Amino acid sequence: MRLFHSNSWRMLAALLWLVLAGLRPAIADAPAKVYVVLWFDTEDYILPASDDAALHVAEFLTHEGIRATFKVVGEKARALERRGRQDVIAALKKHEIGYHANFHSVQPTPAMYLSDLGWDEGVAEFDRRERPGFEDVKRIFGVAPSCYGQPGSSWGPQSYGAMRKWGMQVYLDAGSHVRLRDEPYYYCGILNLYKLAYQLRANLGGAKDLEEAEQKFLGARKHLLAEGGGVVSTFYHPCEFVHKQFWDGVNFKNGANPPRERWQVPPTKSPEESKAAYDILENYVRFMKRFPEVEFITATQAAKLYRDKARGRKFTPDDIKSIATAVTVDVSFQKQDDYALAASEVFVLLNGYVAQRAAGNIPESLILDSTPYGSSEPVTPRSAAVTTDGSQFSRTASKQGRIPTSVWLGSQAVPPEMYLNALAKVTLELLDGKSLPETVALQPAKLAAAAHVAEDSARLWGWVIFPRGFRAPAMMELAKRQAWTLKPAILDRSDK
Ligand SMILES: [Zn+2]
Repeated sequence: MRLFHSNSWRMLAALLWLVLAGLRPAIADAPAKVYVVLWFDTEDYILPASDDAALHVAEFLTHEGIRATFKVVGEKARALERRGRQDVIAALKKHEIGYHANFHSVQPTPAMYLSDLGWDEGVAEFDRRERPGFEDVKRIFGVAPSCYGQPGSSWGPQSYGAMRKWGMQVYLDAGSHVRLRDEPYYYCGILNLYKLAYQLRANLGGAKDLEEAEQKFLGARKHLLAEGGGVVSTFYHPCEFVHKQFWDGVNFKNGANPPRERWQVPPTKSPEESKAAYDILENYVRFMKRFPEVEFITATQAAKLYRDKARGRKFTPDDIKSIATAVTVDVSFQKQDDYALAASEVFVLLNGYVAQRAAGNIPESLILDSTPYGSSEPVTPRSAAVTTDGSQFSRTASKQGRIPTSVWLGSQAVPPEMYLNALAKVTLELLDGKSLPETVALQPAKLAAAAHVAEDSARLWGWVIFPRGFRAPAMMELAKRQAWTLKPAILDRSDK
């Protein structure tokens, strides 16, 4: 019985180890996790069978104990109400509700009507056209939608200004208008899950699609765990399980805009084909679920995990010093310890510091309450340095609010990038105990962060619903100016 004896000792030791491991005080980092954001663009208000598809998917996930995010179109919510589908509404309500535009594909779609508008007009126009749908989704589902994502590739930066007015925290979609290392980022003060390295799904064609998706997921899981955890974004449309062709392609392709009475229903799948499609989704979800480190999260949970730690933080003079030190003529975001700052946030912090010092105060700390937007109008670049005196520089500092198109040093206008760079130098001198310099030289500088915003191109607007040849160069320039607000979103790995 020696063998048994030795085995039981081993078992006891293993048990003791387990107990001690459990009692170990929580250390800084929790085990790495793979967070799967599973979302459904719930948009088809033409084909009634898509209501049943939404019901089927929502009930399956509820049964699996998984909460997904259903981004609902305003007209879809109203259609469910008109058709008396309280059952569908109740099933979706068990998940998180997001928003996916008022009419989705009825012309003109957001990128089109935003394409020739500036910032303020665009925000107002998006709010005017899309808020009624937001309000309807909120009324019908009894909850304010937590996130927004555009129809097709119909993206526009001004939508972020409206989202902030509506109190939304997350932009949830898939596209390439803005991308930052293919990881989550903040843009215009909103968390974006948009262009991600791991945007995975099992296509609904057959067994081979499932097999392929499972392999891809395994690869993503391996990489994310090695990196300390991260996000996989997976999306479907409930209508995909019942149609053979998208509801909007049938009606609104290439700029078409028929009246409601001429809307056509799309060709549908047979019950067998639908079942095969559901099987793929269900098997794929169960496959992901079986890994202990996989956690399904909603948009709101993502906002918590990627919470902006700069917001509300008290910045000490030491913090201000490291922030000012990191500013260069290539104006961009910066990462400090456990938080990141967008260039516009660096601008208000440093400007606030200099303005206070100029007023004779020595601030103990500065607080950042929100992300100021970028310049609303095109900035005229300057290729030569500009000189001003310290008094003028400090008087200018006392007058800044959001990132201006031009910063006026008395009668001289300079781009905000140039001003920020000089601001950093003046801040460092003041922090070193020196007084305001006699003269301040402002060097040419550029908004380097704008490189993360796509150039206008035909590919960017490849959605079939756009009229052929649609382009939006002025709007993408505006989007580049909003790169003042861009910064990485940092995953909170602390054990809670
Ligand atoms: Zn859509």
